[in-house]
Amino acid sequence: MPSDSIALIHQPSTDNHVHPFPKPNLGAFETPLRIQMAMRYLENSDVSKRYTKSAAPRAKLEDALTVHSPYLVHAVEIMSRIGSGELGEYAYASPDLLRSALHALGGAKQAAKAVVEEEAEHAFALVRPPGHHATSASPMGLCYFNNIAVAVRFLMKNHGIKRVSILDFDSHFGNGTSEIFYSYPNVQYVSVHEYDYENFGIGHYEEIGHGKGAGTNINIPLLESSPDTSYESVVERVIVPVMESFRPELIAVSAGYDAHYTDPVGNMNVDSRTYWLLGSTVVKLVRSLGLQGSFWVLEGGYNPLALGLSIRASLDGLLGKPVPGLEDQTEREEHEMLIDSNNQVIGQVLETHSKYL
Ligand SMILES: [Zn+2]
Repeated sequence: MPSDSIALIHQPSTDNHVHPFPKPNLGAFETPLRIQMAMRYLENSDVSKRYTKSAAPRAKLEDALTVHSPYLVHAVEIMSRIGSGELGEYAYASPDLLRSALHALGGAKQAAKAVVEEEAEHAFALVRPPGHHATSASPMGLCYFNNIAVAVRFLMKNHGIKRVSILDFDSHFGNGTSEIFYSYPNVQYVSVHEYDYENFGIGHYEEIGHGKGAGTNINIPLLESSPDTSYESVVERVIVPVMESFRPELIAVSAGYDAHYTDPVGNMNVDSRTYWLLGSTVVKLVRSLGLQGSFWVLEGGYNPLALGLSIRASLDGLLGKPVPGLEDQTEREEHEMLIDSNNQVIGQVLETHSKYL
């Protein structure tokens, strides 16, 4: 199997889903510019020699139905035809929504397929709109179809894959993916995200999965402004041991880059070194556990200047290259109290899951 190159699947440049203006929404940041600028950055960097790129094929509505209710799928179709309107909280329609959403879904499926068909050991779908907030029944948070959930379901249904771990490092909790697989014993969902301990909300570590799926939902809710050091601890103390214990056949990654310290939507404090570490950790797990590989699907990441270099750092990690020196890597203040609080959270996560590991 070729391990020295990555399959990069990108959104067709003609897709133009944009959120309407003026609405009080976060959609101002979720635009085609994200993909365009990330692609431009990657194409001008050394890593471009190490991937083969192809445009995302268009998925079918039936693909979305493997995870979503007919009502949701029908609503996305109808509202795209109407060309405007609100489908859910922070999820708006445009005339290009359906086309863009089906390409995002097709890209995620294609990335999953590239790995199981041994075209590449690792694949990355650079697509939008993102998916991890979309539940089985509701679009929300800039997400319509849950791209990664559909791709995982596709592998299990059509390619005989039995066990998958999903790593979600987007700054926000992937409530949709968590909900979809909450009682699945064979899909492990591991999410590291920011959490508001003053107001609480979903994404708490006590949400562990249900029934036969108990123990397969692992939330690591870090405090706002968490630095690279806390992510290193999460990787070492939680992500690696829980995946070693679960023993998946491959790893699916919900790759959201909005924990970057320059992101206008997320509130975390990491730079591209953390994104390199995550890539490098995934490849080490793939090697040490003898897995088929990993496929990555873009979620958030709303500073178009930071997105390309963050992805490039992940790809360098996947390719076994040393951490690249990139212009976003600055020395920023790290607060000891914050790191201590996060270490306590990590301890709670491990204690909560101790009987399943
Ligand atoms: Zn996010």
